[in-house]
Amino acid sequence: MGTERLYFILERSAFSVKRWALPPLSAMLVLVETEKRIRAAGRAVLDVVFPRWCVGCGGVVEAATCQHICENCLGEVVFSRLPHCSTCGWPFPGEVSGPRRCPNCVDLDPEFDEGRTGMLLRGPARAFVHELKYHAGWHLRGDLQILARQMTPLREFVSSAVLVPVPLHPRRMRWRGFNQARWIADALVAVGGAAGVEELLVRVRDTPQQTRLDRAAREKNMKGAFALHTGAILKSDVFYIVVDDVFTTGATLNACAKVLRQAGASALGVASLGHG
Ligand SMILES: [Zn+2]
Ligand SMILES: [Zn+2]
Repeated sequence: MGTERLYFILERSAFSVKRWALPPLSAMLVLVETEKRIRAAGRAVLDVVFPRWCVGCGGVVEAATCQHICENCLGEVVFSRLPHCSTCGWPFPGEVSGPRRCPNCVDLDPEFDEGRTGMLLRGPARAFVHELKYHAGWHLRGDLQILARQMTPLREFVSSAVLVPVPLHPRRMRWRGFNQARWIADALVAVGGAAGVEELLVRVRDTPQQTRLDRAAREKNMKGAFALHTGAILKSDVFYIVVDDVFTTGATLNACAKVLRQAGASALGVASLGHG
């Protein structure tokens, strides 16, 4: 109902409302406009009282594309693009014909068909993923979508696929309160046109952090770490993509892919927000 119509009804039908109680329409429009300005001013005041800091350089973020990444740092983010490794998405310099694997993936025995990544984990991109994961990055979810819009190979890859986030162990989930892989999957549904998110996997072993482990140790660490969610049924005509925040050796994503493959997934991929 338009403001004009509402005003007309109020004026004609409200017996108890005295005519002087209703401000003229022009005054109401001024009030609406004033309210908008107060809100805008409120945001500006909040920015002064609680300035938004850049996760990359620590500077104040003002009038930028993202809420928590300044324009300089955004310009430093290296997004993946063609040509890239068909297993992990790492971009190759120069021309490459046909599917190729990067040196990092040569020793990987992938259970999945193909993989993509969004950006290289350097500088501000690394800081962003770190903040998202370890500092309860609820406030970064808007920026996550803004970044994801620039991840062309990743967006095209997930289009119409069903995304399966790498799960946290229930104990870690209770402690952390969120699963960043789920946030990434949700962002890819919002801006990449993925068909949806299905939490098909569970983490049955609370594995130690593997940031300092080599490939062999990571693979051992991930052995038997995941299982199919009770009652989960996979459809043979669906393209499933396992989603995680980081691709390092691919051990975690590969362990998840193995469970889905054994459960009957025919078309299977992996996707990571960052590679490093
Ligand atoms: Zn910055
Ligand atoms: Zn690779």
